[in-house]
Amino acid sequence: MKYEAVIGLEVHAQLLTKSKIFCGCTTEFGASPNTNTCPVCLGMPGVLPVLNKKVVEFAIKTGLALNCAIARHSVFARKNYFYPDLPKGYQISQYESPLAKKGYIDIEVGGKQKRIGITRVHMEEDAGKLIHETEGKTTTGHSYVDFNRTGVPLLEIVSEPDLSSGEEAAIYLQTVRSILRYLEVCDGNMEEGSLRCDANVSVRTKGEKLLGTKAEVKNMNSFRFVRMALDYEIERQIDLLDSGDAIVQETRLWDPKQGITISMRGKEEAHDYRYFPDPDLVPLEPDEAWIEKIRSSLPELPNEKKKRFVREYSIPAYDSAVLTSSKTLAGYFEECVKYFPQPKIISNWIMSELLRLLKKDNREIEECPVTPQQLAEMLQLMEKGTISGKIAKQVFEEMYEKGSPAEKIVRQKGLRQVSDEAELDKIVSQVLADNLDTVDKYRSGKTKVFGFLVGQVMKETQGKANPKIVNRILQEKLKT
Ligand code: ADP
Ligand code: MG
Ligand code: ZN
Repeated sequence: MKYEAVIGLEVHAQLLTKSKIFCGCTTEFGASPNTNTCPVCLGMPGVLPVLNKKVVEFAIKTGLALNCAIARHSVFARKNYFYPDLPKGYQISQYESPLAKKGYIDIEVGGKQKRIGITRVHMEEDAGKLIHETEGKTTTGHSYVDFNRTGVPLLEIVSEPDLSSGEEAAIYLQTVRSILRYLEVCDGNMEEGSLRCDANVSVRTKGEKLLGTKAEVKNMNSFRFVRMALDYEIERQIDLLDSGDAIVQETRLWDPKQGITISMRGKEEAHDYRYFPDPDLVPLEPDEAWIEKIRSSLPELPNEKKKRFVREYSIPAYDSAVLTSSKTLAGYFEECVKYFPQPKIISNWIMSELLRLLKKDNREIEECPVTPQQLAEMLQLMEKGTISGKIAKQVFEEMYEKGSPAEKIVRQKGLRQVSDEAELDKIVSQVLADNLDTVDKYRSGKTKVFGFLVGQVMKETQGKANPKIVNRILQEKLKT
């Protein structure tokens, strides 16, 4: 490969504050259009914005978690443009003096760590939402505007151009999302738009120091689309260079249906936002004591937790990465270990059975009907030999569906493992008597049929026979 790709991401995260950034309106999602509004967020003349302190706290928290320096002096600016979803005719954002700068995060790509620079983190307000009716039998083709989202607080997190593939960009975005969720400042839902990302992409000949001309790609609302859109865009630019054409600076939209990016506007049509400091808002000057108080309240972050789990519980790095992908899931695991101190067994159950069932129902771990203590109790029954590993899966599914404890399900359904030697002896004898031809095969050297005989015993006992004992008895009987 002659070329290398250069990517920088601009991530927008909707903050989980109860009220908007410059007024007291609720940020609650799903209300009827234009009910969560007031003269301030509707941009009426003569009103004044008042900065929400919680937004600043969340922004400082995020800046610190992304290893940024927090500015002791930052400024809100007006970004001017016309669009029907922007009632004031300008968006309040931070421009020349953002709240946080010069940070980094470490991402893991193919088992290797890579450090990605964070250029800046700043606060701004969201715009409203346009709802376009498509023309049809019963509709008019009108467009409507909903200002409920106008003034909802956003953080913009801008990375250095340190990413070099669609995959790296998706991993970076996943890492940022996980940090935001650990901090409980953003729910990270890409489909609903509470986490959005624009990507700047360019390519250059390997070894070249200067950056190439970039295109900005928008409209990617899932990790998969980020990967696909960027890989497509990189290929498109390489093809252009290979055929002697130049890259033009422009904004492009990802079209998920066609799997391509499409030019939306060129450099000439780019907005001139005429930024200037907002005269209605004083510069923001958080004091050192507040910043330090927030720093000391930071939770253990995903990367640290991931390393600690490997150290403390001796589980593989892969397991640790899955378990720490969400703070709640990590907490679930640790709670389980308290009741049943065999981390690897728990990790296996969570990763295979629990996550499988949650995924099937499209549920988050927060909605898991089985408590950590209940899972631990079930594992204890398995450990003691009361139920077999196979039955345990069935019991666990019941627990998940009905929310009842393992003990009760085992009792009600008679799922106790049969370990009674005399009883198993009788069943094995019967199976052998019913399968004389198989027994002959075994004795003539086709020992592979052993598994079939074990299977028959299991069938007779509805899977409840203790496999260890069955194996031993079968072996003894086949010898004689
Ligand atoms: P703009 O002023 O056009 O918004 P910025 O300098 O603010 O550009 O950068 C926006 C994002 O684009 C950042 O994430 C940055 O890392 C990235 N970026 C800047 N130049 C390039 C380039 N040539 N190729 C890829 N990404 C770039
Ligand atoms: Mg920019
Ligand atoms: Zn309002």
